[in-house]
Amino acid sequence: MRWSGQLISGNTDAGDAEGAEAGSGVVQAGLFAASDTVVRTFDTPGFRGATFYEVRAKSVLNKVPGASPMFGWTINPYRGCGHRCVYCFARQTHTYLDFDAGLDFDTRIVVKVNAPEVVRRELARPSWRHESVAMGTNVDCYQRAEGRYRLMPGIIGALAESGTPFSILTKGTLMLRDLPLLEAAARDVPVSLAMSIGSIDESVWRTVEPGTPSPARRLDAVRTLADAGLGCSVLMAPILPFLTDSPEQLRRTVAAIADAGARSVTPIVLHLRSGAREWYYEWLQATYPRLVPRYRALYRNGSYAPSWYQDRITSAVREYAKAYGLVRPKASGDGGGGGQGGSFRNTAKPTAPAAEIQPALWDDEEVSPS
Ligand code: SF4
Repeated sequence: MRWSGQLISGNTDAGDAEGAEAGSGVVQAGLFAASDTVVRTFDTPGFRGATFYEVRAKSVLNKVPGASPMFGWTINPYRGCGHRCVYCFARQTHTYLDFDAGLDFDTRIVVKVNAPEVVRRELARPSWRHESVAMGTNVDCYQRAEGRYRLMPGIIGALAESGTPFSILTKGTLMLRDLPLLEAAARDVPVSLAMSIGSIDESVWRTVEPGTPSPARRLDAVRTLADAGLGCSVLMAPILPFLTDSPEQLRRTVAAIADAGARSVTPIVLHLRSGAREWYYEWLQATYPRLVPRYRALYRNGSYAPSWYQDRITSAVREYAKAYGLVRPKASGDGGGGGQGGSFRNTAKPTAPAAEIQPALWDDEEVSPS
């Protein structure tokens, strides 16, 4: 109950205060102005079972030490994610808040309700050098909560007006709500958009990413962004061993991504870091128990599948990408070099002037598969 003493109020849409029930979470001193925190629940479809911790952040623009220039600065208006992907390796970051990496990550969502105004203030500093800012690097900025809190329009506006390039990686088709804003922003600054679609297999999607829009809806979003001239890359991630990695599954997914007009596709094999690993194995045991021994063997050396496996997946995707008109760019500076995977670009459609989401993104401790 360390958390409850720090609340100024607890209330809900239905008026039933739950501050005293708020649980064991405690916000780190210095991260949030905790005395302003409000705990809220909503008795509406899509939000039942979730608790939102509305905080007033002191700072939102986050410097990532040692990251590539594309990911040197990040904005994460939320902590925790209602998309509930079982494998999400941002789960571990929830433990920094004294929440757990499992159900708490899915259902206890921290909302930095003042993010737009704080970002605007931070971007106005004379010392700000207008380096690229990445969003969707820890948790999904277009998760369900964004439908209610609408933080992204103010953030996008602040970035564009300050002349700051930015990128967004998401599984949320809610991004289309902000299409006019994104189009306007792209007239002023480089804007790079990416959708995460690991597979088009709907039976696996339903159980492993239960809070996300379907792969078909995400592909529709890619198509809409392509048709609008903004362009959208696809992070084909994570590819799940023994579940979405058969040659036919890879082929069909790459074909669908190319058909949607994606600018590029970057394949990434599942990582199983601490926090995500335990949750994933629990799900695997309950859902596909016969696969547990095969996973234990494949990941026996740590968080990553062995390089022979990753190479096999990358080679297969490369072949299918070529066959469907997605080719790997020669220059390494535009998403083709380094890290696992590598991007394969669509040659069938004109590309937007924005920078690519780089494959090195996946190797960044701060970055999640959304
Ligand atoms: S992988 Fe992305 S969309 Fe899925 S739970 Fe994590 S942050 Fe959310």
